[in-house]
Amino acid sequence: MKKVSIIGGGIIGLSSAYYLAKEGYEVVVFDKSDMNDGCSYGNAGMIVPSHIIPLAQPGMIAQGIKWMFDSQSPFYVKPRLNADLMKWGLQFYKHANLKHVEKSMPALCDLSLLSKELYQDFAKQSNSFFYEEKGLLMLYKTDKTGEEIEHEGILAEKLGLEVDFLSKQEVSNLEKGTVTDVIGGVHYKSDAHIYPQKFMQFIKDELATMNVKIHANTTVTDFVLKNNSVSEIITDKGTFTTDELVLATGSWSPHIAKKLNVNISILPGKGYSFTLKDQSHKPSIPSILCEGKVAVTPMNNDIRFGGTMEITHTNDTKINQNRLQGIVNSINDFYPELKINMPKEEDTWFGFRPCTPSGMPIITRDKKLKNLTLVTGHAMMGLSLAPATGKIVAEIISGKPTSVKTEMFQL
Ligand SMILES: Cc1cc2nc3c(=O)[nH]c(=O)nc-3n(C[C@H](O)[C@H](O)[C@H](O)COP(=O)(O)OP(=O)(O)OC[C@H]3O[C@@H](n4cnc5c(N)ncnc54)[C@H](O)[C@@H]3O)c2cc1C
Repeated sequence: MKKVSIIGGGIIGLSSAYYLAKEGYEVVVFDKSDMNDGCSYGNAGMIVPSHIIPLAQPGMIAQGIKWMFDSQSPFYVKPRLNADLMKWGLQFYKHANLKHVEKSMPALCDLSLLSKELYQDFAKQSNSFFYEEKGLLMLYKTDKTGEEIEHEGILAEKLGLEVDFLSKQEVSNLEKGTVTDVIGGVHYKSDAHIYPQKFMQFIKDELATMNVKIHANTTVTDFVLKNNSVSEIITDKGTFTTDELVLATGSWSPHIAKKLNVNISILPGKGYSFTLKDQSHKPSIPSILCEGKVAVTPMNNDIRFGGTMEITHTNDTKINQNRLQGIVNSINDFYPELKINMPKEEDTWFGFRPCTPSGMPIITRDKKLKNLTLVTGHAMMGLSLAPATGKIVAEIISGKPTSVKTEMFQL
């Protein structure tokens, strides 16, 4: 059987490894980190068929500019004179229209629903990662936000998702874990959630039983190309031959793709999270606090809060205290009983969401290199879309028809 090498051991790389190994391929994964704390670990763990609207959408640019002047806002583009940022911004501008959103919605919905089914299958095997189907509550405090959120709910209903539109009273009837100070909410019954670190451990254990070889702490630096194919992978620990190559390098994809003469426009969207352990008094249903764009996820006995999207570069590892304060303020505004304090810097996690300017993931065979598959750019939905993405990667490499249409996931 052919040998498939995957660069990137985040949730997208490991999901691809799982479905490729299931097809019988010899699979090898390389990751430059120790594979314990990247973007796929500290995220909010939401599986979100509800998220059918890509980041590139009408109104986003005007809203983004407004937010840039607010140091606690949930969205920020770090201004710098940089060709990659300019190119990304221009592409984002071109995609932020209704036509693009209308084409993207069914594609994202299909991919998401397939992923949820695959998570259900994993959970039947062993639910060590606390898969739960409690839906997602979009909570809001102002009429203006409420109108936008309800409009999105109506679009989701048209795609067949089950959505409830809740008054203030109905929100508190549903959310019994703590008091909510909101004027209403939209409940997507389609959504689910997991504990990301535990899922990453689960899939690593699965891969071990399937004889997938994982090279952690191994940085891929270059490639040897032969006859329009990648024949060798050069790393800081030696050179490896391969029959197929999968690039699943998240926010680092543009840099490594350049070595293959492939242009990918992705910028990291830095976000933060912190987790409070063993909390008996906590919200019981995963929620987005819409005005602050804060994600709240109960994970077994713990609760995780996450937010902010700073479009930046991968060397920007600073934790911006103002934006963290913005997250904490939102939590206390929406859940007045919780009285959350600012987390210490060492208890604050950050990750780089790999953001394409179209807001759509890339899941495709390369047009020039015959044995290269690109699978990156899942932005704020990487966990949600990972199993379906991995399955499609295996289908692409096996030459089988894909389980969902992939036209919208091209480079
Ligand atoms: C605060 C926050 C909350 C989020 N919440 C959610 C959520 O609720 N639901 C959801 O679906 N998504 C969520 N996300 C997004 C999700 O976490 C990402 O989309 C997902 O983790 C991306 O996975 P990935 O495998 O593409 O990238 P990564 O996890 O970043 O993996 C890429 C890997 O490639 C490796 N790599 C890069 N270059 C090289 C090289 N040269 N050699 C070897 N290895 C290399 C890196 O070390 C890294 O491990 C959230 C993100 C953040 C920041």
